[in-house]
Amino acid sequence: MRLSVAAGLAAAAIVSLFGTQGPKSMPQQESNSSSSPASSSADLVLTKGAIYTGDPQRPRVEAIAMRGEWIVAAGSNDEVHKWIGPKTQVVDLRGAFAMPGFNDAHVHFGYAAAEKMAVAIEGARSLEEFQRRVRDRLSDFTPGEWITGRGWDHTLWPEKRFPTRQDLDAVSRDHPMFFARVDGHVGVANSLALKLCGITRETADPPGGRILHDPKTGEPTGMLEEDAAMDLVRSRIPGLSATQRRRGIELVIAEASRNGITSAQDNSDWADFLVYKQLKSEGKLPLRITEWLPFTAPLDQLEALRKQGGSSDPWLKTGPLKGFLDGSLGSRTAALLAPYADDPGNSGILRMDPDDLKKMAIERDRAGFQIAFHAIGDRANRVALDTFAAVRAANGERDRRDRVEHAQVVAAGNIKRFAALDVIASMQPCHLLTDARWTDARLGKGRSVDVHAWNSMKKHGVRLAFGTDYPVEPISPLRGLYACVTRELPEGGPAGGWRPQEKLPIEDCIRNYTLGSAYAQFEEQRKGQLAPGKLADIVVLSADITRIPPHELLRVQVRMTLTGGRIVYEER
Ligand SMILES: [Zn+2]
Repeated sequence: MRLSVAAGLAAAAIVSLFGTQGPKSMPQQESNSSSSPASSSADLVLTKGAIYTGDPQRPRVEAIAMRGEWIVAAGSNDEVHKWIGPKTQVVDLRGAFAMPGFNDAHVHFGYAAAEKMAVAIEGARSLEEFQRRVRDRLSDFTPGEWITGRGWDHTLWPEKRFPTRQDLDAVSRDHPMFFARVDGHVGVANSLALKLCGITRETADPPGGRILHDPKTGEPTGMLEEDAAMDLVRSRIPGLSATQRRRGIELVIAEASRNGITSAQDNSDWADFLVYKQLKSEGKLPLRITEWLPFTAPLDQLEALRKQGGSSDPWLKTGPLKGFLDGSLGSRTAALLAPYADDPGNSGILRMDPDDLKKMAIERDRAGFQIAFHAIGDRANRVALDTFAAVRAANGERDRRDRVEHAQVVAAGNIKRFAALDVIASMQPCHLLTDARWTDARLGKGRSVDVHAWNSMKKHGVRLAFGTDYPVEPISPLRGLYACVTRELPEGGPAGGWRPQEKLPIEDCIRNYTLGSAYAQFEEQRKGQLAPGKLADIVVLSADITRIPPHELLRVQVRMTLTGGRIVYEER
């Protein structure tokens, strides 16, 4: 169902994300305005909706009026009607459900952009489909730029033969290309790539690798086997060019808008931040971004980046310092207090020396930085808490909002320390959709830990922020909400949920994903609830997620996304 959009009187066009208008500032008062709303009408009104505000004073309304970036009224259709003037754009929600826009507290947009610029060949059912998928992406690259990707599998094709350089040349001779097979052990290059890398019929096989040749002509076929041979090409492939980086980021942020994300807290490179800045200056940034800085960088460099990037603009600013204390549970590199149950000689890897960590954290905290530690295992979480305790002891009390990213496995008793030290647990419920398959094997029985312990955190008064770790997991917040309420795998089960005592009611899951994430970036005063005086960051969904059976959450669609009173995505 399309939402209907109309202007009060004039036929105003829908506000275009990529039009000439930049983000609007606060509205100017009309010269003859009185304090009555009729003389200072809204720019945009959502009406006839089922709107969940997240505001305990008034949890449900039918209509919202916005001026510039801000909400000026929220109430019944009648109450908000008086804000509609001749130039007001009116969106009839036709009963659709709307709520505060999602705030993803943990993403890696730069990494996702690089993935977007690679061509996905997984699942192609024929050589022709492989060629088509590459051809469809040609316009994303300028001539001369490398095109890469992976995932082809010739055993799925009717031909059942390896692809050749000629197969790729038929798609383009203007771009060097290299595509690895699904297993990563072999890959195919086109003629231009072979030429640029100096691979001819005379090139000898490198030790441990093989260059395949046409039995008739003796020319290379384009197929390279094993790392040693593939590296002859791969070592020559440059990183993303500036235009590719921008194109990748545009694809990523458009995907975020399609998923109802109006704010993201991002761990990417400074070059990515500069692209966001450029997009913002062109009025093309559809969501708000807080950029993390690397904890281990020298302090003077961090201070320079903070100054250069700013720390107060609600659209784009620098934020916490991100430090890595361990790895991941899946790869058995998360730092545990006792060895892995399925790898008894291994307790994971603590990536920093605890004493160095304390020294650096105290110094960076004193310079006014917020600190966020990646900690997955119970040992890494304990070290994070010890460090935050040392910081407080050294530098005294202030509103510092220390964070632990992931906080997946926490030793018994340590959740209380999160609360006592007022450390935010920035967690990703969607990880459970993958991890629940093997976490019990990693941890074994009888270990005294809390795992993805959202409800225990809540009961102890720990503040939670939610996100996805995109692109490690898809950016869809609905997957996270589904995991949060059910603790079941995407296909359902285990029956009743995995460690079901840690489920949360949907209202809590939503709050963590909106207001909770806003708190983690010092923005809870203006984001995370729909009420007058708050930023107009809103998502419209295909169903009332507070009332549907939890198993239907994965089928809910995003209908419309508004950031700062602008429609940045609308379902077609
Ligand atoms: Zn991450």
